[in-house]
Amino acid sequence: MHIHFKRSALRITVLLLILLTFTVTGMTQEKAIWNKKQCAVCLTYDDALNVHLDKVVPVLDSLGLRGTFYLPGYFETVNERADDWKTVARRGHELGNHTLFHPCDGRAPGRKWVNADYDLSNYTLSRMTDEVKMANVLLKIIDGKSRRTFAYPCGEMSVGEISYVDMIKENFVAARGVESNFEFIDKVDLYNVSSFMINGESGDELIELVRTALQKKALIVFLFHGVGGEHHIDVSLEAHNQLIKFLKQNEKDIWTAPLREIGEYIHDYREK
Ligand SMILES: [Zn+2]
Repeated sequence: MHIHFKRSALRITVLLLILLTFTVTGMTQEKAIWNKKQCAVCLTYDDALNVHLDKVVPVLDSLGLRGTFYLPGYFETVNERADDWKTVARRGHELGNHTLFHPCDGRAPGRKWVNADYDLSNYTLSRMTDEVKMANVLLKIIDGKSRRTFAYPCGEMSVGEISYVDMIKENFVAARGVESNFEFIDKVDLYNVSSFMINGESGDELIELVRTALQKKALIVFLFHGVGGEHHIDVSLEAHNQLIKFLKQNEKDIWTAPLREIGEYIHDYREK
């Protein structure tokens, strides 16, 4: 009787253990919503700088990580280094649309640099639409792709007082804005995806942002301009590379991908 009781207890314990294992596995899978990982990281680089080609791309390529590079079509670095950008695209990075002439509202504070010819407040919606579509034609000639994401120049989403977001929705997988938020898969506005603009942070501070994304099971988008120089909004190459190494070392939990892939993943996730 005593032995029989022990066996039953053992059987129940084994059953409970099996049940627990299934539950824990189920929970982990359920929480790993970012392409089977705990969080998503998107590295974006604006304004077609030489340092992106010369310093950023080599370090990303050496670790097999990919980012999104937003090119304003008429910038000299696009013209002079078109072949280099072609190679960047071939290696799996995204070339994102950042218009042709980078129009921003010249009426905003600190915008004396805005050329009157490319002042967004003087544009019409149809002129902006033509410009954005022509930038897509240019990028397609460079990378052969028809689908990509957009980054709002200066984070502005309207021509004068008229929103141009609907036009962006018609032409892109997603679009990056400039509010600093962590994004959640069921809540993110794909046509105003938040991003953290990086300027002078240390490597540890950049990594801390990713740790928070891991904790929150969120998407974090980094917005870089200069990396080790070439722009007044800048981060040291050392800090940048410290972040990149952390992403590689933790790739079992962190999904790092271009915004095009993350955007497509979110569209699919919502359709299911
Ligand atoms: Zn820009």
